[in-house]
Amino acid sequence: MSSDRIVGIDLGTTNSLVAFMQGESPVVIPGEDGSNLVPSVVALDQNNQPVIGNGARNSLIANPERAVYSIKRLMGRGVEDVQEELKFFPFRLAEDLQPGEVLRIRLGEKKVGEKTFTPPEISALILRQLKRNAERFFGAPVTKAVITVPAYFNDAQRQATKDAGRISGLEVLRLVNEPTAASLAYGLDKKQNGIVAVYDLGGGTFDISILKLHDGIFEVIATNGDTHLGGDDIDNLLITIALDDIQGDLGLDVRRNAEVVQAIRKAVIEAKITLSSQDSTKLSVELPRGKHYLREITRQQFEQLIQPIIDRTVGPCKQALKDAGLKPEQIDEVVLVGGSTRIPKVRALVKEMFQREPHTDLNPDEVVALGAAVQANILGGGSEATENMLLLDVTPLSLGIEVAGGVTDKIILRNSTIPASATQFYTTQIDGQANVAIHVLQGERELAKDCRSLARFDLKGIPPMAAGMARIEVKFLIDANGILSVSAREQRSGKEAEIQVQPSYGLTDQQVESMILDSFDSAEEDFRKRQVIEARNEAGTILAALEKGKKSPAWGVLMTDEKKKIAKLEKALIAVKAEEDYQAIRKAIEVLNQATTRLAELMMDSAVSAALKGKTMDEAGDAAEDRGEGLTAPHPMAKAEFE
Ligand code: ADP
Ligand code: MG
Repeated sequence: MSSDRIVGIDLGTTNSLVAFMQGESPVVIPGEDGSNLVPSVVALDQNNQPVIGNGARNSLIANPERAVYSIKRLMGRGVEDVQEELKFFPFRLAEDLQPGEVLRIRLGEKKVGEKTFTPPEISALILRQLKRNAERFFGAPVTKAVITVPAYFNDAQRQATKDAGRISGLEVLRLVNEPTAASLAYGLDKKQNGIVAVYDLGGGTFDISILKLHDGIFEVIATNGDTHLGGDDIDNLLITIALDDIQGDLGLDVRRNAEVVQAIRKAVIEAKITLSSQDSTKLSVELPRGKHYLREITRQQFEQLIQPIIDRTVGPCKQALKDAGLKPEQIDEVVLVGGSTRIPKVRALVKEMFQREPHTDLNPDEVVALGAAVQANILGGGSEATENMLLLDVTPLSLGIEVAGGVTDKIILRNSTIPASATQFYTTQIDGQANVAIHVLQGERELAKDCRSLARFDLKGIPPMAAGMARIEVKFLIDANGILSVSAREQRSGKEAEIQVQPSYGLTDQQVESMILDSFDSAEEDFRKRQVIEARNEAGTILAALEKGKKSPAWGVLMTDEKKKIAKLEKALIAVKAEEDYQAIRKAIEVLNQATTRLAELMMDSAVSAALKGKTMDEAGDAAEDRGEGLTAPHPMAKAEFE
């Protein structure tokens, strides 16, 4: 049992923690140094070996080019998305990044050997440290985890977090929203119904989430916040004041002395923390030239100083309530998360805003990890809460349909928050196709046969059209109870069909787990197979279109040279299509596509002029589905590429 213990992890911007369920209650697992929090900082030591946590934090000052912090801000984001962050944080990005490429961070100095890491790799180092802490604690390997993410994380950010888990050697059984985890830690799911506000003021970020609990399921109904607001702002304010004092009273300018500034930072953080439990404290820092800075701060002074900072949380809270369509008095429970909510003044502000006493029994900087451990325990079947299997706020597995070549096309991705809905467009594969078979699938595998078949239905009575002309909108909708409805509608004719399925029905967590594990084992091979199938489908489409083109009047208009070139490229594509190299197939498609652009345009023109003469588009040669890019039509009965 202990060997497949599942841990809960809070992978935070400032601090990360790992927790597990000990009997009836979740507990945080301390590191070797005895501390529960592992600072989310990674540095390279003199031998270019990674150091994580407290050890790395010291390098931030001594060797800033060898350390990185706040990496969570870069997870799942592209070069274009992070420009704003770069104004706030000294991230050193690799210089040769292409648009669309995964970011890489530089660590170390060019002279002694620089290394680059992707954000998931940096996060994986933090996760690996937590994994080791847990393994040391249990004296046994730990391979499975539940990891928390902010409720507003998009799919790419979630995917990056899962990748980090995988890289660290952890199977991420589920991602849980941080506010949901905090609510679970307080056992609020047992209340069955109600509205929960989760106020999370951490080191550098502020999040407010409004959750609706119905039948034990959490639904995130609104989120808001400020990605640059938190304890760091308080620290920086106190540092500025101290620096001004030192200059004014002692005539010393120490702004550029990194070590002194760091000493001041340490002192103000200590003072801030002390003031959360005491009425006054002394700020004391040793300065150069035998001087000494000493200042007493009372809690009252401190509260006055930070008022403008904490007031900045009010706007987002109001907006979240407004978005949720709720008044403060409709909130049933308020949960405090984040180290900065230890400040009494912050608690008072929250109480006033929501007109309710917030939950404070658990440590606010541990509560998310504790909730992750609760979720982990449920997934592991280790609690009598198994009847609570539907304790989800996300879909545990991806949902999609089967498309040409037996490939799975995912429509709602695993770990999407529910309720969720998504729409994709498809088209027909054969000329005059009147019926389309819709096969609803669940699972992570790329091929339909490897996924779980949930339902099949037909969309019938599509009026005759050329292949690729139909525009079929397939809509997936999962309501808060986990019930999936799938509808299909052919937009040109208005024909539609609908079905309801229940994705989680009868599926044990073990099955869910093994499907996820399967996908880990075979992910690479699956990916390759899928690429080959897709490339072949595409090749088939362009070759079929070319066949048609050759019979059309447009073919006669082409120059002999042009025709020869097309014939040569056609032969090349046919040859490479039989092989397994999908990149070669794609390349051949691309060149043939370019060579046939003019043919496609001519066909298009003749189709249009035929239509003007009163014939239907289909009779005139079906080339209408084209955007002037050669003969590429949508994949047969598959993902359509209308705009
Ligand atoms: P994150 O979620 O961003 O990883 P945490 O929830 O761990 O961060 O919060 C870290 C912040 O909480 C830091 O700014 C830290 O100084 C602050 N903090 C921790 N304990 C206290 C305390 N007792 N009083 C005031 N601030 C605190
Ligand atoms: Mg946090």
